[in-house]
Amino acid sequence: MLFRSMKRPAPPKPEPIGKSYVCSGCGYVYDPDLGDEDGEVMPGTLFEKLPEEWVCPECGEDKEQFIEEA
Ligand SMILES: [Zn+2]
Repeated sequence: MLFRSMKRPAPPKPEPIGKSYVCSGCGYVYDPDLGDEDGEVMPGTLFEKLPEEWVCPECGEDKEQFIEEA
């Protein structure tokens, strides 16, 4: 039997502009809010929008080695 709790409005959460991705090589985190200054990536650039030739600024792994942060 299902127990029904009272519905409460969800607290407002700041909406992140996109998901962070983690380099599986070194653990570097690409945060779209920050971009990648050294790689001339503007803050606010989604991981999906990074140029194909973009590589991890820490270890040089390519985009395919990045995994979505849980
Ligand atoms: Zn890396």
